[in-house]
Amino acid sequence: MNYDKKTIRDIDVSGKRILLRCDFNVPHDKKTGEIHDATRIVASLPTIRYLLDRGASVIITSHMGRPHGVWKPENSLYSARDHLEKLLGIPVPMTTDVLGPDTKAKCAALRPGQVMLIENLRFCLEEEKNDPNFAKELASLADIFVFDAFGCAHRAHASTAGVADYLPAVAGFLVEKELAFLGKALDEPKRPLVAILGGAKVSDKIGVIKSLLQKADTIIIGGGMSYTFQVARGGKIGTSLLDEGNIEFARNMIAKAEELGVKLLLPMDTQVTKEFSGDAEPTLVPSTAIPDDCMGMDIGPKTIQLFTDAIRGAGTVIWNGPMGVFEFPAFSKGSNAIAQALAGLDGAVTIVGGGDSVSAVEKTGYADKISHISTGGGAALEFLEGLVLPGIACLADR
Ligand code: ADP
Ligand code: MG
Repeated sequence: MNYDKKTIRDIDVSGKRILLRCDFNVPHDKKTGEIHDATRIVASLPTIRYLLDRGASVIITSHMGRPHGVWKPENSLYSARDHLEKLLGIPVPMTTDVLGPDTKAKCAALRPGQVMLIENLRFCLEEEKNDPNFAKELASLADIFVFDAFGCAHRAHASTAGVADYLPAVAGFLVEKELAFLGKALDEPKRPLVAILGGAKVSDKIGVIKSLLQKADTIIIGGGMSYTFQVARGGKIGTSLLDEGNIEFARNMIAKAEELGVKLLLPMDTQVTKEFSGDAEPTLVPSTAIPDDCMGMDIGPKTIQLFTDAIRGAGTVIWNGPMGVFEFPAFSKGSNAIAQALAGLDGAVTIVGGGDSVSAVEKTGYADKISHISTGGGAALEFLEGLVLPGIACLADR
């Protein structure tokens, strides 16, 4: 996939009608509508302001949750709209329908330098089906399509990819930044490239492991997925997470790394408990000799040393997947140490992607010392797998 996409900087937007796909799918209280985390709305401001400052009229679209075609108040974009109004300091009219008479009327009234929001597109089943007529009708509202919802880039929906069949399509600033960091890290990384992989299941990450094995100089495997690799090399893992169907895959990956000259590091010591609990007193054991009645919860101090030594000389680090059950403070030490190691690198490009990985890093307080924290979640993972993302592929090449 070509990552060198045209952006709003590359085209003349002044006086144009812009259909802007944002990701306003923010966590919020289902009853009161109160927004718990407005990061995504705040992150979309540079693109919106840039367009408004140049006299464009901006029609924003987004989804909120998964209503699957049913109009439910808790899936309305009203609270996101209210928040956006406060941030922008100007009115943001919102439609009461999707592509109905109210949408038509509000679009017709929109003037240069003004912005409006269309109600949750997923209230219409056509959105997720990428229905061509629905996409065409959306496209008919504007002159240019701007995609800035990176977290939805892996979905071929009417508002993410479908509309690009009918309008010139370019990237907004959020998407531009994601492409610059993730694309460069995969295509022309500053070496050595160290990939850190963790999280719960091997099966979730097969594509990511395969893809990064071809690109990285060092691969570090920790977290829940590491136990399957330990079994593959003859270790005993007690009751730790095991992805039985992927032992053979792990064995192949270990062999492949050796063949390609990629350094593959696995944990040496593991903090184990008898129960899956944040209060259980952990015992430190060798990672290949976990007692039968114990499960791995986090990496141990020798492993932290091994991993941080490998990170120290990196030119680029890509990290996906926590090193332990970080949701329990007692088992967040491994992930914290990795975040600290990334934060301490001088002149390296450091990238964190994946929903849980990002929240793990945000908990550590080192987030502002990481070069790029992807807003992508599943989209970032598919990007790292080297898959074509429909929301990106449909944008004009530079
Ligand atoms: P991401 O969302 O960043 O892609 P994943 O969803 O793959 O990450 O993995 C995150 C989950 O992995 C977390 O909920 C964490 O508790 C779990 N995890 C990490 N290490 C272990 C472990 N040793 N045992 C069980 N679960 C683990
Ligand atoms: Mg996850």
